[in-house]
Amino acid sequence: MLYNNLSGYFRNKYGKRLGKICIDGGFSCPNRDGTVGHGGCIYCGERGAGEHINQAVSISEQVRCALIDADESDAFVAYFQNFTNTYAPIEVLKERYDAALIDDRIKVLAIGTRPDCIDEDIAALIASYKSKCDVWVELGLQTANDKTAEIINRGYCKDVFEKAMAILKQHNIPVVVHLILGLPGEDMKDIKETVEYINGFDLFGIKIHSIYVMKGTRLAQMYENGEYNPPSADFYTDAAVYVITHISPDIIVHRLTGDCPRDLLVAPEWNRSKNEIINTIVYKMQQKCLSQGCDY
Ligand code: SF4
Repeated sequence: MLYNNLSGYFRNKYGKRLGKICIDGGFSCPNRDGTVGHGGCIYCGERGAGEHINQAVSISEQVRCALIDADESDAFVAYFQNFTNTYAPIEVLKERYDAALIDDRIKVLAIGTRPDCIDEDIAALIASYKSKCDVWVELGLQTANDKTAEIINRGYCKDVFEKAMAILKQHNIPVVVHLILGLPGEDMKDIKETVEYINGFDLFGIKIHSIYVMKGTRLAQMYENGEYNPPSADFYTDAAVYVITHISPDIIVHRLTGDCPRDLLVAPEWNRSKNEIINTIVYKMQQKCLSQGCDY
């Protein structure tokens, strides 16, 4: 196998593919409301990811809608996607996670958040769901370079990520880290350093995102002003191959591209062809007989 993909992991673990129910839990983000920053990360859209989710309905209703056409034998991941899904008092978090776990076919509770919104109590709450289903937490690191973190207005430094990782490890909560390749000011050297950095942690999974410029973001302004130019598809696919070949073969690769809604994409054009990007990554690896972790 070229890389350890999520469908293979699901098949081994559950004997089937799991569908993903993307949930807007009605959270906000401390990097947007002024608690740690204003305006958010420069690439973040108004919906904090998950632009396609119908946020007008309750969490349970979002889950019910997703299950309408499902068979009894189907299985799902309930993925809290938009904004920062641990950014609320514990009682509220519990209420919202409970509202998603309304059907036995949900096998995984996945929670996307920021490292500065992880503490002991939150980790203990998330860990408590392990008696009901599998859980994992997704952290948007994007880069290990603190200078880039400032440019993208991420609002926290590496040591915050390290602290969150230590807390989650203590509670035995698997972590999926998100990286973005092609951030402003970054080249292959930065990407290599980020890979070296994440290799210092015991990661369950990785999401590798291609950067894209989305309408209405600060990054879109930078693009229009000529302050930022997205990388070429060739650079991105080379960089993704580098990441895959230099991470542990045990890490589950959850994603290989970014996914901008078509009507909101400003640039680059190549971001529209998700399959082509994945096929190119696979082709480049096959051509050189590479596999995940071969240079780990
Ligand atoms: S942490 Fe996430 S939700 Fe918050 S501004 Fe950054 S990308 Fe958006």
